[in-house]
Amino acid sequence: MSDAAPPPAPALEQELNPWLAAETRFSEAADRLELDHGLRRVLRVPEREITTYIPVMLDDGRIEVFTGYRVHHSTARGPGKGGIRFAPDVSLDEVRALAAWMTWKGAVVNVPFGGAKGGVICNPTVMSQAELERVTRRYTANILEFLGPEKDVPAPDVNTNAQTMAWIMDTYSMHQRHTVTAVVTGKPLNLGGSRGRTEATGRGCRIVTEEALKRFSMKPEETTVVIQGFGNVGGMSAKLMHEHGFKIVSIIEWDGAVYNSNGLDIPKLMRHRADTGSIVDFPESEAIGLDEAMEQRCDVLLPAAKENMITSTNAERLQCRILCEGANGPTTVAADEILEKKGVFVIPDILANAGGVAVSYFEWVQNRQGFYWNEQQVNERQEEMMVAAFADTLEFAGKHKVNNRTAAYMLAVDRVAFATSLRGMYP
Ligand code: GLU
Repeated sequence: MSDAAPPPAPALEQELNPWLAAETRFSEAADRLELDHGLRRVLRVPEREITTYIPVMLDDGRIEVFTGYRVHHSTARGPGKGGIRFAPDVSLDEVRALAAWMTWKGAVVNVPFGGAKGGVICNPTVMSQAELERVTRRYTANILEFLGPEKDVPAPDVNTNAQTMAWIMDTYSMHQRHTVTAVVTGKPLNLGGSRGRTEATGRGCRIVTEEALKRFSMKPEETTVVIQGFGNVGGMSAKLMHEHGFKIVSIIEWDGAVYNSNGLDIPKLMRHRADTGSIVDFPESEAIGLDEAMEQRCDVLLPAAKENMITSTNAERLQCRILCEGANGPTTVAADEILEKKGVFVIPDILANAGGVAVSYFEWVQNRQGFYWNEQQVNERQEEMMVAAFADTLEFAGKHKVNNRTAAYMLAVDRVAFATSLRGMYP
């Protein structure tokens, strides 16, 4: 007998399949744009999907073979761009969806990149740094011919970070026989990383939330926020929103959630987590159930963990006015309909979390110029880009009388389709 949870019912399984979600949303945008049938067929599928098996010697001398993926969804507007995640539940459908979302995300903020994504099925929590380094280097070597500043430029994602990017950059550079910084973004600062990149996704969430508040004539100081996830995106969003006066009433992590009606002291909570390894038992807070925390009344709910956190099962119970999607794909298609009926103002993932790829673009530009910007320049340019993307999306929503998510997809699909048709079909 296995202890594994029973497989989800077919309808739920379908609802939770990220690739089906990506396709459904693309189709809706394509329908509304009355996109040419041929172009629709081109953009519906990825350009290339690589599956690679990664043999690695573990610290105890055993050999393990990991499975990795890299999917290029579109390179119509520029090199493939997108993160690499390490997690036990990575699947090809997930990586496919994430690659397509990168295409649309890059187009929403109008950076000259296509969309790509990578993943390796592994459990980083039980692996040593040395094992992670060997997996990263061998994965990079296995897909080497498909990477490059003009081909495909990875970045960090779930369970990968600046150190992972340094290993990829080094492996790629060793094969090229010279240092190529622009092959990845999200690198450490002293290896060609950009100022502001670590904070970029969180900063973007803060910027678009403030843009949304303006529409409701609300001020950050009167705005309560619940954040799910306290990793790079959730943590940085919390820190930057806290600095801007928002009241972060709850942080939800996988092992517990904390609540303070007057707003949590985020820097203190970060120190508590650094000292104890968890947000749980933070003195200036009350413990609260994970679902209860998600479903409490708040102005802004910011899911910043993984896909499928808001589904047909819990959407009805949410009590937020604004949903700012820090994660990729946190809301299922079925949940979307429920949120729309409830009148929730959704800032869709491909807009809300595009700050990461925006500053990745700045990093790539700086690497290629060999000329580095100060933090203020990076932050100002990011702000300008995201405010424009927010305005473009809302303008599409108004003009076509669609919700924000459909508007963002329409804007993106329109831009990518235009580039694709201008280039024409080869041969
Ligand atoms: N992993 C991030 C995302 O999902 C960043 C991608 C990038 O900068 O290329 O947007």
